[in-house]
Amino acid sequence: MKQDVIVIGAGIIGLATAERLLLQGAKVTILERNKAGEESSWAGGGILSPLCPWNYSDDVTRLTSYSVNQFPAWISVLHKASGIDPEYEISGMLILPPYDVESAQQWCSKRKIKIERRGILGTPSTGNNIEIHASSTCDRALFLPDIAQVRNPRLLRALLSRVAQLGGKIIESCTVNTLKTAHKRIQSVISSCGEFIADYTIVSAGAWSKEVLGKHALRLDIKPIKGQMLLFKFDTPPVHNILVQHDLYIIPRRDGHLLVGSTLEDVGFDKQTTISAHDNLLIRAQAILPILHEMSVKQHWAGLRPASPDNIPTIARHPLIRNLFINSGHFRYGVTMAPVSAEILVNEITSAPQPFDATPYQMGWNID
Ligand SMILES: Cc1cc2nc3c(=O)[nH]c(=O)nc-3n(C[C@H](O)[C@H](O)[C@H](O)COP(=O)(O)OP(=O)(O)OC[C@H]3O[C@@H](n4cnc5c(N)ncnc54)[C@H](O)[C@@H]3O)c2cc1C
Repeated sequence: MKQDVIVIGAGIIGLATAERLLLQGAKVTILERNKAGEESSWAGGGILSPLCPWNYSDDVTRLTSYSVNQFPAWISVLHKASGIDPEYEISGMLILPPYDVESAQQWCSKRKIKIERRGILGTPSTGNNIEIHASSTCDRALFLPDIAQVRNPRLLRALLSRVAQLGGKIIESCTVNTLKTAHKRIQSVISSCGEFIADYTIVSAGAWSKEVLGKHALRLDIKPIKGQMLLFKFDTPPVHNILVQHDLYIIPRRDGHLLVGSTLEDVGFDKQTTISAHDNLLIRAQAILPILHEMSVKQHWAGLRPASPDNIPTIARHPLIRNLFINSGHFRYGVTMAPVSAEILVNEITSAPQPFDATPYQMGWNID
C-alpha cells in the first residue's frame, strides 16, 4: 500500500491501526490533540476480556476472542522493538458471587473455555493467600484461568515507540477541527497545526469521534462514559488473580500496584474525579479485600470511554465519503479489541478478506 493516510487520535486504536498500516507500506501521519496515549487508553485497567463475557453478544465475543489470541505475539514484538515491557500476564479472573452460574457455564462450555468453581478464600492453587470476602450466601467463585492483563500505559509507550520506528509521524498538540469535503471525498483535514491532505483519513478519536466527524457522523452513536479508578501500592501483590464482583474489579500488577475500578457515568465530557465515586469504590473494594482498610489510596483518576450501543464498535468505511474511515466506539474493551480492530480496518481499506464477517461493525452509521 503506497498511499498517505491520516489517523486522527493517538489512543490504542489509532496507534494500533497506524502500526498495521505502516507494516503494509503506507505513509502515516497521526494527529493528536494532546499527548499521545493519555486519554481512555491510559486510564483503563488492561484486562484482556469482557468482565462477565456471557453478558455480551456474539459480535463482541468474536472481536475479543480473536484479539486476545494475538496479544502474546504482538506484545513480544512491541517489547523487542521498544525495550518497554507491557507486562502481559495470564493472571486468571476470579468472579465473586453473586453471578449467574448457569449462563456462565453454558457460555463457557459452548466455546470450550476453561472455567472452575473455587472456594473464595485464597488457596495456594489460585495464589491468593490473603482473605477475600464476598457478601453472599454462595461461597463459591468462578475462576477463568486463561484471562490475561496488560499494563496499558506501558503498552501505549511501547506501541508509540514502535510506530515511530516504523516511520509513523506523530504530531501532538494538534487538534483536528474540520474535515473538508468535496465530491464525496475528504479533500483535506484542517487542524490547529495546519491543513493536511491524504488519500485516506481514519477517525479514531475515541469518545470525541462524533465531534471530529461533525455532520459526517450521520447517526453514529458514540458518547463519553466516565470511568474512575483507584490505585494502591503494596510491597508484594496481595492477590494474583483479577477479582470481579458485579461491575467492580481489582487488578493486581506484578510490582504490588493494585487497581480498583470502575464507575460508569453518563456525564458528558467531564473528567473530574469525585469524592462519592472514590468512597463507593473504596468501600466495595474493602468489602472484598479487608486488607485495603489498612492502605491509603495512592492515586485516583478518570477516563472517558468511547461508549457505543451494546459495546459494538464501528470499524468501517463511511457510507457516503469513500476515503473516510472510522475505528471507534470500543467502549469498555478497546484495549482488548485493539489488534483485531486494526486488522479489520486495514483489510477494509485494502479490500483484503476479513478474518470473519465484519458487517456487524459497519452498522454504526445507522443509515437505512
Ligand atoms: C476506567 C476505565 C477502565 C477501562 N478498562 C479496560 C480494560 O480493563 N480492558 C479494556 O480492554 N478496555 C478498558 N477500557 C476501555 C478502553 O480504555 C477504551 O475502549 C480504549 O482506550 C479506547 O481507545 P481509543 O483509542 O478509541 O480512545 P482514546 O484512548 O481516548 O484515544 C482517543 C484519542 O483521540 C484524541 N483526540 C480527540 N479529539 C481529537 C481531535 N479533535 N484532534 C486530534 N485528536 C483528538 C484524544 O486526545 C485521544 O488521545 C477502560 C476504560 C476506562 C476509562
